[in-house]
Amino acid sequence: MTSKPRVVVLAALPALGFDLLRPRFDVAAGGPRVDSGWLRKHTPGAAGIVADPSIPVGPELMDAAGTSLKVVSNFGVGYDNIDIEAARARGVRATNTPGVLTNATAELAVALMLAAGRRIAEADAMIRGDSWSGSQENILGRELAGATVGLVGFGRIAQRVAALLAPFEVRLLCSSRSSGPVRDAERLALDDLLAESDFVSLHVPLTPETRHLVDANAFAKMKRGAILVNTSRGAVVDTQALIDALRSGRLAAAGLDVYEDEPHVPPGLCDLPNTVLLPHIGSATAATRDAMARLCAENVIAVIDGQEPPAAAGGRSRRIRASTTAGS
Ligand code: NAP
Repeated sequence: MTSKPRVVVLAALPALGFDLLRPRFDVAAGGPRVDSGWLRKHTPGAAGIVADPSIPVGPELMDAAGTSLKVVSNFGVGYDNIDIEAARARGVRATNTPGVLTNATAELAVALMLAAGRRIAEADAMIRGDSWSGSQENILGRELAGATVGLVGFGRIAQRVAALLAPFEVRLLCSSRSSGPVRDAERLALDDLLAESDFVSLHVPLTPETRHLVDANAFAKMKRGAILVNTSRGAVVDTQALIDALRSGRLAAAGLDVYEDEPHVPPGLCDLPNTVLLPHIGSATAATRDAMARLCAENVIAVIDGQEPPAAAGGRSRRIRASTTAGS
């Protein structure tokens, strides 16, 4: 009897993912916090590794699996945690889960715009801290209607944000590396977008080019009293420059789902009343996580079967279109 190929699951994969993998593979489920002893025991000879954006997958882990390794399947759309060049050099396919989490993440970006603009966290803390005097004068916020919203990066998630914002009667701007006209927004150079936007929302992948894209210089170009929302990756923003901008009043508020050194969130951000801080929950709805688990498992199965995966990361993909409902 030939043994089944081994798949090492390091991501917190929902049960549906395991249900799809277990009939085909010998699945070693470790979770994101396995120690080196566990990895040494289970990784050699593996055909697949299931990771998530919090798990770095570099040459060392790939070499621990050895030449049997065919696929690193990321449970997430961003794949900045995977060394794509190292994978390519070893003939290992990297895959991700685009499209199925687009709506959930876009809804969260809009929620953060509303929460930061209307100071929802501060207002909630006021009630819980028993410090509401009966007046609202010290908690005045700003509305989306009539505001200019700048979307940095205009891919699947940003375009869904643009669609969700349509009834709010905002002026929509966007910037990305591509040029030419786009639907639903005016495309501007990044500096012009920063100078004109009341709300700036980040939707670029983390790459060497986008690391600290929003730094002290960028904050200096922004309108005084603007609001920053980040659901992309923490390192797209220089955290210290953000804290300085929030302290000085250059920014009125920030709504953040992602941080430079997760799960560590610097006290400088937690101490500020004008931040809304979420623990990286952009795709965290039950339906979306199931859809991601399915796509993640289908990617593993396809590559180990010698087929083109539904969603290859970093090239040669059959591109998955943005979907408005999870699982579709
Ligand atoms: P996508 O469809 O690939 O869109 C990314 C956009 O960024 C593209 O429009 C791309 O356009 C633009 N871009 C890339 N490099 C750029 C640069 N240097 N300067 C300006 N624009 C640039 O990706 P998506 O599905 O919308 O996801 C975007 C990111 O959101 C992911 O990579 C991930 O990091 C993050 N995310 C976070 C969560 C969460 O839980 N918070 C959930 C899902 C996704 P051009 O190529 O034309 O520049």
